[in-house]
Amino acid sequence: MKIKDVRTHILRAALSQPFGYSRAWYDTRTAMVVEIETDDGLIGWGECYGPAPITAAVVASLATLLIGADQLRTDYLWRKIYSSMRDHGQKGVIIEGLSGIDIALWDIKGKHFGVPVHRLLGGAVRSKVQAYATGLYRRRSGDPLRYLPEEAAGYVAEGFKAVKLKVGFGVEEDAAATRAVREAIGSGVALMVDANHAYDAPAAIRLGRMIEPYDIGWFEEPVPPEDVAGYCEVKSALTIPVAGGECEFTRFGFRDLLVRRALDIVQPDTCAAGGLSECKKIADMAEAFGVRYNPHVWGTGIAIAASLQLLAVLPPHPALAGAARADAGIRPHRASDPPGAADATDRACRRRCRRARWLRPRHRNRPHGADAVRGEMMRRCGCRQSQTGGVRYAARNIRVALSTTCAMRGAGGEGAA
Ligand code: CA
Repeated sequence: MKIKDVRTHILRAALSQPFGYSRAWYDTRTAMVVEIETDDGLIGWGECYGPAPITAAVVASLATLLIGADQLRTDYLWRKIYSSMRDHGQKGVIIEGLSGIDIALWDIKGKHFGVPVHRLLGGAVRSKVQAYATGLYRRRSGDPLRYLPEEAAGYVAEGFKAVKLKVGFGVEEDAAATRAVREAIGSGVALMVDANHAYDAPAAIRLGRMIEPYDIGWFEEPVPPEDVAGYCEVKSALTIPVAGGECEFTRFGFRDLLVRRALDIVQPDTCAAGGLSECKKIADMAEAFGVRYNPHVWGTGIAIAASLQLLAVLPPHPALAGAARADAGIRPHRASDPPGAADATDRACRRRCRRARWLRPRHRNRPHGADAVRGEMMRRCGCRQSQTGGVRYAARNIRVALSTTCAMRGAGGEGAA
């Protein structure tokens, strides 16, 4: 039982409609998928968040540390890679590469033992997770005060009980957009905002005070990740819970945020912060500090599947603050499905997933092109399904270890760069 090969796959797809957030415009979506093969024929899949060409180079470079190693020694291999790169990569793309490797190794471990990963992580403490719709990006044309409320109302019509709005376009404009979206979705749906660290602390506080009347579930990345003191200022000044962490890495990085009580909600990305091994440690540490953990999720079905396995074992914490409480947006999650159950339930799952934003073939308000990315993934993997078969892709290739993707309408994570 040894690791035989490590392969990387960069997937790209042009978007039919570019989209923008406070820091950039995108006209292409990319993903970087890690494939690890063992000498006894098992294949594990992982995914790296971050710039695909760079994370692919990182994983390819780290492969020499993995070839010939026992694939079940996940903590040992994590430390081996981290220690070898400590002087050069305690954060950033090195850890993103390590994350994809770690997820692939957990996929192999699940397949080796024939159980979903959540059972190996300690066992599921929940069978359902709350979903929210990430969207409400900017478009090249049109009035955001018209199309944002319309898009938000569309998510509510689909059944979502929580949505997240991109802000960071100027305090006055953000406040107007927040008000318009709140009026469109009504008081029974949770609303969160995400600035993608567009502001400094005074501007973030000003915006926060202007939108406090709109019952905001959390204010995500109000200030740059390096400005921990700014996070603390914003958190002290507002009644809105402050969230962040998609740009932080490993237990060491989150330790410092937690010690300084900079956040109400930590949002590590499983494909960036160190993989399943590390994010479980971060989650346990967050619990010890009394801080909520809500994973950032952005990527293919592999990222979603890995995040769901972690979500299944996260310590309980209060539901979203704001209007939608414990039962808001709860979706079926078959964390307890036995290995192999995914194929049997595939058709039913697709039917359920049709309303899922992440997995829908097309959506009138969804310019992200994730479907095209998944289509490319399936083409490479020889999957015969149409683009909606992204569900089947996840089901077929990671059904044993990460067997629950197709049973979800969405994860409790987010989809924002
Ligand atoms: Ca975000």
